[in-house]
Amino acid sequence: MSVQVFYGSARQTRLDASETLPAKLDLILDRLHLRERVKDETVVIKMHTGNNLNYSTIPPVFVRKVVQAVKDGGGKPFVADVTWDVEGADLRGYSPQVIGCPVYPVAGPHDKYFYVHERPFKNIREWKVAGLIEDASLLINFTHVKGHPSCGLGGAIKNLALGCMVGETRGAMHDTCQFDRYWFGELCPDPATRARVIESCPHAALVEDKQHPGELHLHIEQCNQCGRCLRVAPPGSLRIDPVNFDAFQEACAISAGITLSTFAAGKMTHLSLATNMTPLCDCFGFTTLAILPDVGILGSDDVLALEQATLDLTAGLRLMEENLPSSLEVHDRRGHPFQQIHGPFKDPYRVIEYGEALGLGSRAYELVDVMPVESIARGPIGYVPAR
Ligand code: SF4
Repeated sequence: MSVQVFYGSARQTRLDASETLPAKLDLILDRLHLRERVKDETVVIKMHTGNNLNYSTIPPVFVRKVVQAVKDGGGKPFVADVTWDVEGADLRGYSPQVIGCPVYPVAGPHDKYFYVHERPFKNIREWKVAGLIEDASLLINFTHVKGHPSCGLGGAIKNLALGCMVGETRGAMHDTCQFDRYWFGELCPDPATRARVIESCPHAALVEDKQHPGELHLHIEQCNQCGRCLRVAPPGSLRIDPVNFDAFQEACAISAGITLSTFAAGKMTHLSLATNMTPLCDCFGFTTLAILPDVGILGSDDVLALEQATLDLTAGLRLMEENLPSSLEVHDRRGHPFQQIHGPFKDPYRVIEYGEALGLGSRAYELVDVMPVESIARGPIGYVPAR
């Protein structure tokens, strides 16, 4: 069964405020019946407030609109993000005076307030859901869409998966990529050859393992699967294998599922703003040029449908290679544009596939444009003499 995803295009027909994205967000909130659903609810608006000098996160004018809608409906809203991003959030415009509600660290100021959920997966046994997330009675998952070096897409699932867990669990999720062995040092006993393998990577993705001298450590985030190292490493000694890349995406689906399971049916909704889409996550503490044209804003009660629609709307866009930092490269032009810059094993659709297998929602969706861009019929252009 297909699920409705409400969509407001970044394009306008007329030069009028009523056709801008904040105005279309209001229309989406109407279609989601948000005001009617929040009375007496403690509403957590989970968003990524960025870090340091980041300026491509969700502009406060959008956040204010969501906060106001919750207040209008009689709910008690607060914005939440991980501790280290909330520190300094006011410097990026997310202050109570501007957005209309408080901004709290999801697991308290010391990242110590959480609930434990047991679910074995690779190196993880316990998932620690941030206390303020689990205590809230209604969730608004408000995401800025961008690329991500670990999984291709920084979208709605990742906003939940990483942002609703304490730092210890977030670290363990990244470590799932290291769980399956990829370095077989016994096949490369020569230290000089090992050094050449490390030097062969132009992205500094391979380093000596500090904890296990003689072993190699692969930084998944930096690896775009270009294969240069495999030309140098003795046969069989190094694997650049999808299993190590997929692990993080599966961990994200599991994590998001655990968080969503703490909310009752009908007590969650998801919004994604697909503008200023940069190559990396907003937690990197800086903003680069956008690498895709702005798409617009989307909303749905189904996180999988929303994510699928977001990816489908961005999949066919032209990758603005002229805006890429020169340290990034495109060596494979197949797949989604985010995949083209982060590598073929970072397929942004993977996390949705894992989410579907876990029953988190529906990938089938009906896109409902809340204000379709009109094509304007005009007569042929006449002749005006040049002055
Ligand atoms: S595949 Fe390319 S980016 Fe990845 S570790 Fe090897 S050389 Fe580095």
